[in-house]
Amino acid sequence: MNNQGRPTSIPSASGEVAPTISGNRALQIEEALIFEQDSPGSTGVDLPEPATDELRLGGLRPRGQIGLPGLAEPTVVRHYTRLSQKNYAIDLGLYPLGSCTMKHNPRLNERMARLPGFADIHPLQPQSTVQGALALIDELAGWLKTLTGMPAVAMSPAAGAQGELCGLMAIHAALDDRGEGHRRRVLVPESAHGTNPATAALVGFTIDPIPATADGRVDLAALEAKLGPDVAGIMLTNPNTCGLFERDIRRIAELIHGAGGYFYCDGANFNAIVGRVRPADLGIDAMHINLHKTFSTPHGGGGPGSGPVVLSDALAAFVPFPHVAHGPDGFRLIEGPQDPGATGKEFGRLKGFHGQMGMFVRALAYILSHGADGLWQVASDAVLNANYVMARLQDVMTPSFDGPCMHEALFDDRFLKGTGVTTLDFAKALIDEGFHPMTMYFPLVVHGALLIEPTETESKRGLDQFIDVLRGLAARARAGEAEAFQAAPRLTPRRRLDETLAARRPVLRWQPEAPQAEAAE
Ligand SMILES: *Cc1c(COP(=O)(O)O)cnc(C)c1O
Repeated sequence: MNNQGRPTSIPSASGEVAPTISGNRALQIEEALIFEQDSPGSTGVDLPEPATDELRLGGLRPRGQIGLPGLAEPTVVRHYTRLSQKNYAIDLGLYPLGSCTMKHNPRLNERMARLPGFADIHPLQPQSTVQGALALIDELAGWLKTLTGMPAVAMSPAAGAQGELCGLMAIHAALDDRGEGHRRRVLVPESAHGTNPATAALVGFTIDPIPATADGRVDLAALEAKLGPDVAGIMLTNPNTCGLFERDIRRIAELIHGAGGYFYCDGANFNAIVGRVRPADLGIDAMHINLHKTFSTPHGGGGPGSGPVVLSDALAAFVPFPHVAHGPDGFRLIEGPQDPGATGKEFGRLKGFHGQMGMFVRALAYILSHGADGLWQVASDAVLNANYVMARLQDVMTPSFDGPCMHEALFDDRFLKGTGVTTLDFAKALIDEGFHPMTMYFPLVVHGALLIEPTETESKRGLDQFIDVLRGLAARARAGEAEAFQAAPRLTPRRRLDETLAARRPVLRWQPEAPQAEAAE
């Protein structure tokens, strides 16, 4: 390590560490922070001296330097290009994160989203000038309603988690409308995505967990025992986060409706069932659909995502503003209770404008280029690929549940028992082999989970390479190579970071190092 805490050595093929003079690793450059590259006086632009020093901000005088580093243009270009190359992406390789559906984003979608008629419009433009965009939102809404069998959809939520918020706010409003504001308990199965209980709590509900059975599904008897007059509803993920279809889902809907509650389904995993199952037929009242998963719009790195929420007859009137209506004079937006066509029960507005237009364009391009039969095939291939991974690994890794899976294959850490290798070590070793790790330690219902979602856009050849590496690593773990695993990753610019500390105590601002004299005190 040099004095800035950076590693200056790389391991040789035999695992020994050989230093480089520069600290760089092959053509991976050891990049200093942009602030550390500050060269006062350097600049990328050549502006003439201002003709006057007259202040144009009234009496407001700058209190000091604003603290931007001085840099020439080539330095800036190289810095950001190098940073961009450190970013892993679905365009670089397999991204097997379970519960994330990291599938290929077709370039056709990107082309369509860049058409100036979609890319260059403004949400405050007069509605008569954006009829095409409104028609597109309406057409996409139509597809989402058809695919789910639902009568209404809220298009504005900006992500899956915000979709959950939208659905639970609709449920909250519906209960208040019924004069049943005392219903404040939401049942959340243990296999739920972490966002589910967080959302219910944010809307003011209390969370009551339902245990899972030994086969990874909701325990029906436990669910029945928890029903009561204060139950607002259930939040169920289907396919659930174990990658399994909830077989008793219709019975669950009957039970929850019988108790006077609503059925919220986390539909982020719609990829596995799109075109094959209509959530309305399962008795669901509200469900978000992550366009950035099932319908291949880009995600990760901060979005933007898009999480429209479909609503059943029972909840349709509570859809938030704005929503698109089709009248004799074309399309228009219903923006508030005063607008003709408002239901009068909308729970309010969730987001500044109408949703993520660029994502709508991409999702519709994806849907239209696949067609109804193509979407059916998407679900089939997603499930086939996950089962292929499961079938080829089940003799060396330990699947958590028997039988075929849906779109993701769940393993636990029993195959590592007694090897001294943990799920974390195993995942880190994958990085040295050129693969992004799977989701780890989630879902919580199994020990040391490894959740792999290959998606339908990976080829058999690509999956075989990944599987061969996993098989090789499992063999090495069994062969007693625990130390090598514990040292992984060896080939990355940084080794193991304290990700928990980084999340809990993020350092978001660069501070200059204290001058020597001060530091010595
Ligand atoms: C991804 C996901 C979410 C959250 O979606 P975001 O768009 O990341 O907010 C919720 N539930 C499940 C099951 C998911 O896979």
